[in-house]
Amino acid sequence: MKISEFDIQGAIDQETRCKHYHSEKDLIAIKFYCCNTYYPCYLCHEEHGCGQHTVWPAKDFDQKAILCGNCKTELTIHEYMNNENTCPSCGTLFNAGCSLHHHLYFEKLRE
Ligand SMILES: [Zn+2]
Ligand SMILES: [Zn+2]
Ligand SMILES: [Zn+2]
Repeated sequence: MKISEFDIQGAIDQETRCKHYHSEKDLIAIKFYCCNTYYPCYLCHEEHGCGQHTVWPAKDFDQKAILCGNCKTELTIHEYMNNENTCPSCGTLFNAGCSLHHHLYFEKLRE
């Protein structure tokens, strides 16, 4: 589905929800490092993606890789991680449960 200027495979509405994650707060799409394309979630990437799942290396966390489904602003991985599940642009709340899945998208940082 085309959302703003992005083509988001697996999205079922204009706010980037998909059949796997479609609550009120499921408002982000994540660009996958491996195919440089946005997907609503990792399961959508499994179904529609490149089949070569690669996480973002920590050195690239300043790249824009998160799309807010509410205001369609692209956030860097740093911005996303440092804003407590809130969009710094429009203030919308994201699903806090997403942070449980960070390891599926981003290289794990040493604490
Ligand atoms: Zn991929
Ligand atoms: Zn999905
Ligand atoms: Zn936003």
